Amino acid sequence: MIQFPDSYDTIEVPAGGVVRSGGTDLQQRLRAENARPTIVDLTGVDGFAGISSSPDGVRIGGGTTMAAVAAELDASHPALAIATGSLATPQVRAYGTIAGNLTQHTRCWYYRHPEMSCFKSGGDSCPARTGRHLYGVVFDRGECVHPHPSTIAMALLCYETTLILADGSSKTMDELLGDGNDPTRDHLLADGDVIAAVHVEPGWTDERGAYFRSISRFEAEWPLVEAVVRARVDDGVIAEVALAVGGVATVPLRMTAAEAILVSSELTDETIAAAAAACTEGANPLPETGYKVDLVLATVTETLERLRAAGE
Ligand SMILES: Cc1cc2nc3c(=O)[nH]c(=O)nc-3n(C[C@H](O)[C@H](O)[C@H](O)COP(=O)(O)OP(=O)(O)OC[C@H]3O[C@@H](n4cnc5c(N)ncnc54)[C@H](O)[C@@H]3O)c2cc1C
Ligand code: SF4
Repeated sequence: MIQFPDSYDTIEVPAGGVVRSGGTDLQQRLRAENARPTIVDLTGVDGFAGISSSPDGVRIGGGTTMAAVAAELDASHPALAIATGSLATPQVRAYGTIAGNLTQHTRCWYYRHPEMSCFKSGGDSCPARTGRHLYGVVFDRGECVHPHPSTIAMALLCYETTLILADGSSKTMDELLGDGNDPTRDHLLADGDVIAAVHVEPGWTDERGAYFRSISRFEAEWPLVEAVVRARVDDGVIAEVALAVGGVATVPLRMTAAEAILVSSELTDETIAAAAAACTEGANPLPETGYKVDLVLATVTETLERLRAAGE
């Protein structure tokens, strides 16, 4: 039995049990697998939903819907808000939560097929690597070749973020995601770990944010490549910046080489082109994902052009 932080409620996750926040990912998987684990529904747990601000930043309850994150953090954390408000559909954002988004499972079609087995479903191989991997990674770093699904994880990499677990312990985003090299894991939470809240540092003064996704249809689909940026601009010169790209590796990637080009520079066409090119360095696409190298270039370029437009 765990006393939920900042709450009157307790929760208990039995061995083999799973927690449910919005249920938008979990229910689909359980139906596909015809699985019947014990479900601990966190909806209504005191303190699980809601956003509060303090001089230290914002505390976002794990059960806060993505719609609320997008609406309420628009002014203070625009990059997080725009990225969150752009994913999935209004219906999914109205039910899906920030904690569920960070811990959702991969969208790989082999993993989601009830009759297929792979590293992530207890098997010992990756059928996508030798089979079809059109939506796969472009930075091939481990045995699994499907990108991490979480847009919000990508956005939170751009902020000092602390995950507060229900047992009172905490984790960084790097501790949640790892380096993506373990093909059996979508995230590194232990069984029974529950994200109670997400703490995010305060936004910068006059922070600007931008996000763009390249997607195979208008909405209701995970992006092929996505990028998010936040920046503080002084007199036309970037004073602070954080840039991350998703849809390209088994974890979202913070693009530090591009950030080094951007900082202390003006957002000219040349700077944008150099930063976008830096985001493709080290790409080693799979046989079917070579197209994503150009898409990274185009997606980051569009994201930075949107950042420039946000200041006009
Ligand atoms: C059409 C469509 C398009 C989508 N496009 C995108 C996209 O572009 N980008 C994107 O990021 N997502 C996308 N999604 C996924 C969507 O964002 C997730 O389904 C949603 O965020 C999951 O949140 P939830 O609260 O419903 O999670 P749940 O379904 O409740 O849970 C998801 C997983 O997290 C675990 N979990 C839930 N709560 C906690 C907790 N508090 N602590 C620890 N573990 C927990 C559950 O056990 C489960 O394994 C899309 C979904 C759909 C249907
Ligand atoms: S290991 Fe990864 S890429 Fe391979 S089939 Fe499983 S989820 Fe898909």
